[in-house]
Amino acid sequence: MASELSGRIWIKRFPDAGTTEALADGFRQNCQAFIAALQAAGASVDVNATRRPSERAYLMNGAWRIHNRMINPQNLPGKAGVDIEWVHRTAAGQIDLAASRAAAAEMVAAYGLAFFPSLSSRHIDGQAVDMSISWKGVLVIQDAGGVTRSIKSAPRTGMNPDLWKVGKTFHIVKHKTDRPHWSIDGK
Ligand SMILES: [Zn+2]
Repeated sequence: MASELSGRIWIKRFPDAGTTEALADGFRQNCQAFIAALQAAGASVDVNATRRPSERAYLMNGAWRIHNRMINPQNLPGKAGVDIEWVHRTAAGQIDLAASRAAAAEMVAAYGLAFFPSLSSRHIDGQAVDMSISWKGVLVIQDAGGVTRSIKSAPRTGMNPDLWKVGKTFHIVKHKTDRPHWSIDGK
C-alpha cells in the first residue's frame, strides 16, 4: 500500500487514551486521588491527554521538527507501522519544502502542540497527564496526607507553584514550563 501524505488526516489516528484509567499502575491511582482532591475543593479539572501510543509520539515529534525547521522532511527517519510520507512534491516531482512544512504546521496546530513533543515522553508509558485546572477565590484542598492547605496565590491554574507542592504529596510532579503537563517526575 502506498504511504499517505502528512497533514491533518493523521491527527485522529493512534489516538491518545484520553482517560486516567489508561495510566500506569501506581501513577494512575495517585493521579485519580489528586484529581478527586481538586474536584472536592471545587476546582475544575479537564483531562486532555494521558497515555500516548508511540506512533502518535512519532507523528507529533516529526511534525514539530519539520515545522520548526529542525530537520528537512526527506531526512526524517520512518517508523514501523506509520505509513506517512513527510515529503510533499511539486507536479514535476521535486521536493516541495514549503508544502511539506505547511502540512507539518497543520499537524502541529491540530495536535495543539505548544511544547516540544519528546519521543521518550512520559505519556508513552502512562506516567504523565495533561490537564487544565482552574478555580475561583481561595482553593482549600486536602493533600495526600489529609492536611488541609489554603492556596490564596495566583495564578488560579495548574501553573500555581503552591498547587505543585500539593501535587507532590500525591507523587504527581508539575513540569515547570509545559503548561498542562504533570508526570511521575516532572519530565
Ligand atoms: Zn504532557
